[in-house]
Amino acid sequence: MTKKIAIIGTGGTIAGQGASDTDLTGYTAGVLPLEEIISSVPGVRDYGPFVCNQFCNIESSDITLFQWVRLSKLVQKCVDNDDIAGVVITHGTDSMEETAYFLHLTVHTDKPIVITGSMRPAGAVSADGPINLLQAIQVARTPESYNKGVLVVMNGYIDSARDVTKMNTTNVATFGSPNAGHLGIVQDGIAQYYMCPLRKHTMESEFGLPEDDDLPRVEILTCYAGIEEIMGLAIVATNPSGLILAGLGHGTIPQPIRKVTSNLPIPVVRASRTGSGIVSKVPQDVEAGYFVCDSLSPQKARILLMLALQKERTCKDLERIFKEY
Ligand code: ASP
Repeated sequence: MTKKIAIIGTGGTIAGQGASDTDLTGYTAGVLPLEEIISSVPGVRDYGPFVCNQFCNIESSDITLFQWVRLSKLVQKCVDNDDIAGVVITHGTDSMEETAYFLHLTVHTDKPIVITGSMRPAGAVSADGPINLLQAIQVARTPESYNKGVLVVMNGYIDSARDVTKMNTTNVATFGSPNAGHLGIVQDGIAQYYMCPLRKHTMESEFGLPEDDDLPRVEILTCYAGIEEIMGLAIVATNPSGLILAGLGHGTIPQPIRKVTSNLPIPVVRASRTGSGIVSKVPQDVEAGYFVCDSLSPQKARILLMLALQKERTCKDLERIFKEY
């Protein structure tokens, strides 16, 4: 018997509805039920059977750490089932890259896990949801999609959860991986791969989930010209377990923030607000006790640090983790 694809719905624009067919921004995300979205996709039944689960139906900017943990547990349960060949998740695009990276590090499987969504609401002129969902399912059905970690499929491209990012507010061609490039393309109903993720994920990941669904809190401070000390003091006063500094350029931290975030008793990681490139260690990092994020975006460095800090870690451990993941 053909194994099933589990489809999990979480909301977003793919489940969104506007007042008119031409409304591409003022619509409400997370309205339509998953079953209705699936039934609007031509040819989808050729890739079944499916088992569907409406996990939530929300705007993805509202997703919480608690929901990430629960979603990860649900996906793990699906992939641990011998009757399931892979998982497809429909998700809002705004935080898609974050959910994808969280699952990439916490679900332990070699089965395909594919996340998709849309930039235009269901029913809108040239809605991209149906084709994205069809292609996500086709990717989940392609044998070469095994052991590639969590994949984001949008606008005909396949990207790794580690590197993918949303780069445009409204365009359907918003997703890309500025440092690594797309992994592949969906064409003729299958995934065609040209690259492979090399950093650790899924099967090789050392990270687990908290028993009590509670993760260490890691905050992000975005720096800018003229930022004042008080911004750094305010974030430190919230008592986070770790801090990501989204610096300027090569992760440069303005002096007022450097002053109040150097040698804190929590890990402080330099990242960059530029959107691409690597932040590598410089001699001043030793003085300040800063770690560096490598090529992770600030929001992904936060996820990695949150998961890492579930355990006591030495500086060496954290440096290794930012190199390996
Ligand atoms: N605001 C929507 C969301 O992330 C955007 C989208 O799905 O494209 O839920």
